[in-house]
Amino acid sequence: MGDIHKKSDRKSIQGTLDRLYFLKKSAPAFLFWILLVLYFICNLIISVSASSGASIMIGGKSLPFYTFAGVFSSISNVCILVVAVYYGKQGFVAALTVLLIQLPIVTMSVVMGHNLTSLPGVCLNIMTVGIVILIYRNNKKIDDYQESLRAQAVTDMLTGLPNWFATTELIEELIKKKIPFAAVTIDMNGFKVINDTMGFDVGNEVLIEAARRWKAVAEGGASGTLDFVSRLSGDEFTLIIREFESDEDILNSIRMYEAALKDQMDNIGYDFFLSASFGYAVFPYDCGTMDELISYSGLAMQEVKKEASSEHIRKFTKDLLKKENTLEMESRIKNALEHDSVFYMLQPQYDMDHKLRGFEALARMKGEDGKFISPADFIPVAEKAGLIDKVDSAVFRKAASFVGDLIRETGSDVMLSLNVSVKHLMKKDFLVEISNLIASSGIPANQLELEITESIMIESVEKAMNCINEIRKMGVKIAIDDFGTGYSSLSYLNNFPAHLLKIDKSFIDKMNSSDSSKQYVAAIISLGHVMGFNVISEGVEEDSQIETLKNIGCDFIQGYIWGRPLSPEDAGKLVKAG
Ligand code: C2E
Ligand code: CA
Ligand code: CA
Repeated sequence: MGDIHKKSDRKSIQGTLDRLYFLKKSAPAFLFWILLVLYFICNLIISVSASSGASIMIGGKSLPFYTFAGVFSSISNVCILVVAVYYGKQGFVAALTVLLIQLPIVTMSVVMGHNLTSLPGVCLNIMTVGIVILIYRNNKKIDDYQESLRAQAVTDMLTGLPNWFATTELIEELIKKKIPFAAVTIDMNGFKVINDTMGFDVGNEVLIEAARRWKAVAEGGASGTLDFVSRLSGDEFTLIIREFESDEDILNSIRMYEAALKDQMDNIGYDFFLSASFGYAVFPYDCGTMDELISYSGLAMQEVKKEASSEHIRKFTKDLLKKENTLEMESRIKNALEHDSVFYMLQPQYDMDHKLRGFEALARMKGEDGKFISPADFIPVAEKAGLIDKVDSAVFRKAASFVGDLIRETGSDVMLSLNVSVKHLMKKDFLVEISNLIASSGIPANQLELEITESIMIESVEKAMNCINEIRKMGVKIAIDDFGTGYSSLSYLNNFPAHLLKIDKSFIDKMNSSDSSKQYVAAIISLGHVMGFNVISEGVEEDSQIETLKNIGCDFIQGYIWGRPLSPEDAGKLVKAG
């Protein structure tokens, strides 16, 4: 929805309006009256002193009072000019009235009283009238200009509808006053085709016609609700619906706008039909802020476009957010793969005597804000989006190269365990990838282990078995990951060519809380041993769990108690220290 440019638009228009309003707001009303009163006092002093012959003493000299007439006359003129400049039409009328009342009086005193000393006063009076008229005309020009700027700031020039700025003003107002309303995002269907095939002029005509019809619906009150329709940009419009009783009312209103488009657009010289997609969200039920409202109604509208069904109206629902998050995550993964920024950590695995067995490589990704994104969030999305093989491979390449070097350097016998998604394993060039990995990293095949979840036993069993057997032939070890969480058949397990069984953390968590849970873990371990597997317990966090696992014959441990996932450097130090 072009949120960013709209936000900055909003700010700049708001700034412009504030500046334009500044002049008007700054002149307080009480000053208007003070200036007029001051004006009359000055004139009173002038006329009284002129005829009284009074004088005042300054520096031992007696000065007749009328010598100060010029000073008071200037003050009175300044007062009247300030009124004319700062008080718009009211100031103009007041100043002109006062001056025009005064003019005949002063003129009379010149003509009747043959008092030529008042002649400059008459001239000044006439000049002031002229100046006041000039000021008024100038102010009016500025006012008209301001008015048209303000109108432009809130109007869409093409259609004459209110624009985005006006819409945000209204939404903010409604939110502030907690008035319920529905925000509907509208987007024309196939508008690009009209523009591309018939040209912009026809496109514009279509927008103007649609706006005319919608305006008629909104202003005619035919929808039964209080509506406000505006154009955002291009072929995007917004509808704000108020005074509804139910969701049904909102829907009925929107249907009126949908129906308004149905008539053929032949009055603009072309005979085609137009339709639009409508998505809406309701304040305060769906969301509480303007940004949410706009983004949610936009999401609902996009969903209409995607579904391409005959229903053109969609209400926002929470599951749309999940979809949106998935899409966002997908693009983050793609971005990380493109920039080769998927990385890994190494979590140590130990035998029961706390001797290092090896490391499991765990994929890691960082968001744009630098924060870690949990693999529990991005791995499932990568699986669905068909990107998991690329994520796996990035970890394979980097971790194997690091551990390969480490083994060459130290002669250590540590294992490297890599997680493989079933989807990845099923790819036809998987075997080639593994043999290339061994060759390029120099890691001994028997120090490499692939962790596969037990779901492999259900999906395409035969193909998977062949592949796993080939991998075994290369000397690579196989671990069954998350054992016990999925559907695993004993008969499959019996034939499964694995070396290691990984008991899922959920069983280890429960193990010490009840005797039956402990017996269950003990049974898995014995079963694993009977089938010829070693057994490792995942997610071990407490000493008491280690004790129990020792007693029931577990072979290995992986868990925070003895080691969290480490950076490759720290894992290297651990190997060298051992
Ligand atoms: P997993 O394969 O079962 O990996 C073990 C997870 O348990 C890791 O979480 C690890 O950090 C966590 N863990 C280990 N010990 C403890 C503990 O004592 N307490 C707790 N609370 N957690 C512990 P992580 O790294 O978040 O990985 C989550 C899952 O993401 C993995 O589960 C695995 O299924 C998947 N994954 C990670 N890396 C890859 C990869 O490169 N490829 C594929 N296909 N999947 C991966
Ligand atoms: Ca694993
Ligand atoms: Ca696991």
